[in-house]
Amino acid sequence: MSMTAPTTRTRVGKYEIGRTLGEGSFAKVKFATNVETGHPVALKIIDRHHVLHHQMVEQIKREISTMKLVNHPNVLKIMEVMASKTKIYIVLEYVAGGELFDKIAKMGRLKEDEARKYFQQLINAVDYCHSRGVFHRDLKPENLLMDSFGVLKVSDFGLSAFSKQVRGDGLLHTACGTPNYVAPEVLTDKGYDGTSADIWSCGVILYVLLAGYLPFDEPNLMTLYKKIHKADFSCPSLFSSGAKNLIKRILDPKPLTRMTVPEILSHEWFKKNYMPPSFEQEEGINVDDIDAAFDGNEEHLVTERKEKPVSMNAFELISRSQSFNLDNLFEKQMDLSGLVKRETRFASKCPANEIMSKIEEAAKPLGFNVHKRNYKMRLQGDKTGRKGHLSVATEVFEVAPSLHMVELRKTGGDTLEFHKFYKSFSSGLKDVVWDTQSKDEDTTS
Ligand code: AMP
Repeated sequence: MSMTAPTTRTRVGKYEIGRTLGEGSFAKVKFATNVETGHPVALKIIDRHHVLHHQMVEQIKREISTMKLVNHPNVLKIMEVMASKTKIYIVLEYVAGGELFDKIAKMGRLKEDEARKYFQQLINAVDYCHSRGVFHRDLKPENLLMDSFGVLKVSDFGLSAFSKQVRGDGLLHTACGTPNYVAPEVLTDKGYDGTSADIWSCGVILYVLLAGYLPFDEPNLMTLYKKIHKADFSCPSLFSSGAKNLIKRILDPKPLTRMTVPEILSHEWFKKNYMPPSFEQEEGINVDDIDAAFDGNEEHLVTERKEKPVSMNAFELISRSQSFNLDNLFEKQMDLSGLVKRETRFASKCPANEIMSKIEEAAKPLGFNVHKRNYKMRLQGDKTGRKGHLSVATEVFEVAPSLHMVELRKTGGDTLEFHKFYKSFSSGLKDVVWDTQSKDEDTTS
């Protein structure tokens, strides 16, 4: 078999689609470049059939239109919406600083001043969107991104209706994402107020920033639900009394007595070094694209055009290289497993086919079903775990004729199980991984 590269260039409208940035509960997020301006964006890609046969289209349209008009420094900007026959593309501001919780996973809990700084930005974002009638309803670590200056950007405001729809199986919170951040009244799902539900999630996030672990974390889902319902948690003694007081007032299981945003804003702990956000409202933003996208108006549809497969070039490699760090490989990224979903990459000097078969060999004894397509593979666990089947996506990219990069991403299931899987899996892949530490001759320079 020849060594054709597995990457294919795809264009949608004026965007050239690049690497996958992440996979959320209802969408895939890809890096893309506006070919007219050269500007980077993030494309959130949603299956249209999740949306169209649903009464929620009006809510989605209203919320996305509102969010497109929003220009707040801590809210990830929605720039444009496009649709093809089968997909909806939400064009977002691209931010390069990664997820806030990656920072905790790498360095542990934050100092109080730093945690406060992020929490203040989070509350600013939440307050602003609430004032425009948009609620998040699914605040969690994956939605807390940072730009290259370390400014917090909250994503997915106005998109909550999408995740709701995928949950249409009645199993509200097991199928997607973690319930650890969800307010008790949302878990019972008897209708709830978006304002106080979002504030609860902010409280859980603040706790994690300060402690480095979750306030509610149980391997058993029923026990977890019970603890959340009773707000059964305790603050570590290292929390200052101000922080403890604030968290206890926010993590009040009764939404009616739970702290409100104005109360948070006037809390002593919160007020320290607080800087209200400054920004200007942009004028003249047009929201016609949103109606056009959701109404499926034929003349506005974009198409995905695939161009011929190409190798990953040096620029693409460098753009991925933030986490392309062989020092971290397999060992260090394992802690704090309850907090962050993981993806990782490694380099290999083996031929692509060999890498593919080694991955397969390593996954099968662990009880995984392997589905291969070109140089992509999906590994599906056959045992049902705490959050459904564990599934992992892998992809092999050619960097140079003798150098490949392999990406592994958890796409479903429990993070803890992923890490367990990963440990055994990685030992099966030892021969494939290119270890730069060893005195291996460097053929790539
Ligand atoms: P989400 O579906 O929003 O949870 O996105 C999945 C993952 O993709 C996030 O956790 C981020 O790591 C990444 N991501 C999402 N949006 C962006 C963005 N605008 N810029 C950079 N990375 C993003």
